Amino acid sequence: MGGFDNVWVEITCPECGQVSRKTLGWLKRHHRVECLSGHVTELDTSAFQEELSVAERDYRRLERDFQDL
Ligand SMILES: [Zn+2]
Repeated sequence: MGGFDNVWVEITCPECGQVSRKTLGWLKRHHRVECLSGHVTELDTSAFQEELSVAERDYRRLERDFQDL
């Protein structure tokens, strides 16, 4: 939790190329994105979660480094 959930990511619709902006916190809860034309993109949650946990770990380390300053 914390600031990382508020990071914005862009998901491009594979059908029409529309870009949806979502926060990581939102994506963690929903796992699917609907573009303005109604196409639903299912996110590969296993790969996504793995990537997310790595990114989150990096972020935590960064946060800790900042606190040490
Ligand atoms: Zn679309």
